[in-house]
Amino acid sequence: MHITELIARRKQPLVSIEITPPEKGRSISELFSSVDQLLPFQPTFITVTYHQQRIVYEDVGAGLTKKIPRRKNPGTVGICAAIANRYKIETVPHIICGGFSRYETEDALIDLQYLGFTNLFVLRGDPAPGFKEFIPEPDGHRFASELAGQIAAMNCGRYLEALDNAVSTDFCIGVAGYPEKHYEAPNLADDLRHLKEKVDAGADYIITQMVFAARPFREFVDRARAIGIKVPIIPGIKPVTNAKQLVSIPREFHVDLPEELVSRITRASTPADSARAGVEFTTRLCRDLLKQDVPGLHFYTMGKGRATAEVLKAMNDE
Ligand code: FAD
Repeated sequence: MHITELIARRKQPLVSIEITPPEKGRSISELFSSVDQLLPFQPTFITVTYHQQRIVYEDVGAGLTKKIPRRKNPGTVGICAAIANRYKIETVPHIICGGFSRYETEDALIDLQYLGFTNLFVLRGDPAPGFKEFIPEPDGHRFASELAGQIAAMNCGRYLEALDNAVSTDFCIGVAGYPEKHYEAPNLADDLRHLKEKVDAGADYIITQMVFAARPFREFVDRARAIGIKVPIIPGIKPVTNAKQLVSIPREFHVDLPEELVSRITRASTPADSARAGVEFTTRLCRDLLKQDVPGLHFYTMGKGRATAEVLKAMNDE
C-alpha cells in the first residue's frame, strides 16, 4: 500500500524506521534482531538506505590501472525483499541519483516494479566515498527532483524512449527535507524552493533530516506550507545516547544539537546515565512533535534498535 494511503488511514501517528544494509561480509541476522526489538511498536513502514559504491583504482603495471567497484553496503533491494517477506511490513527502498545513468535508473525501476515495490524514497545521494562533492554520472540526474520526475513520468507510462502501450508504474514517492537547510544550500528559503520542485516533480510525502527541537520543525512546516508544499511532512528522529555521537552526528548530518542534550550527555558519569539522558530527551521531543499533529515519527536506527525501542516504550508507558 502507498505510504500516503497508510498516512491517510492512520488512527494515530505512524511509527516508521530507517535501516541501513549491513556492510559486506556481515550477517543479516544483526539487522533482523534490531527490527525484532521494534516489532512490539508496530512500525507501519521500514525504509532501507542505498549507498553509492566506492571505486578504487588498482595499479596493474605498465602504467595501467584497473577500475574496481567496491560496494560498501550491498543489497538494499535484497534487504527490502527479505524484510517484506519476513515481517509483512511495507518496505521502502531508497533510490539515489549517484552512480546511475537515467537508463540504468529506468531498468532498476522496472526491476523494483516487477518485485512488487510500490513505494520509493528518492534522493540525490551523498557524494561517492572519497569525494567531497556530488558528481552525477554522464547522463545521470543532478538533483532528486529530476529523479522524482523520471519516476512520475513512468507512473504515467512515459519511458525514456517512446514505447507502444507501455505499462504505467505505480510508485509513491518520498523525498528528503531539511529543517535546518541542506548543507550545500545558501539559505533555507532557497532549499525550500528546491523542496517544492521535488513535490512539483511528483513527490507525495517528505521525511526530514533528523530534528532535535520541536519548534524549528514547526517553523519549517509553516514555511513549507506558505510556499505551497501540501504533502505530509514526517519528522526524522535520531536518539543520541553517547558522547561519540555528539561529534559524529553533527559532522555527518550537518545538524545542530541542543545545549540541553549536549550538557546532559557530557555530564553523564556512566554509559547507562548517558543513554538514559538521550532516551529521556528524545521521548520529550517526540511528545512535543506529536502535539503538532505530525503524521508520524520516522526513527533513524542505523542498525541498532535499542534506543528507539526505549523511546517508544517510554512513550507507550505514559
Ligand atoms: P536534492 O534535493 O537534490 O538537493 C541537493 C542540494 O541541491 C540541496 O542543497 C538543494 O537545495 C540543491 N538543489 C536542488 N535542486 C536544485 C536546482 N535545481 N538547482 C540548484 N540547486 C538545487 N544519502 C544516501 O546516499 N543514501 C541514502 O539512502 C540516504 N537516505 C537519506 C534519507 C533521508 C530521510 C535524508 C534526509 C537524507 C538521506 N541521504 C541519503 C542523504 C542525502 O542523499 C544527502 O543529504 C544529499 O546530499 C542530498 O540529497 P537530496 O535528495 O536531499 O538532494
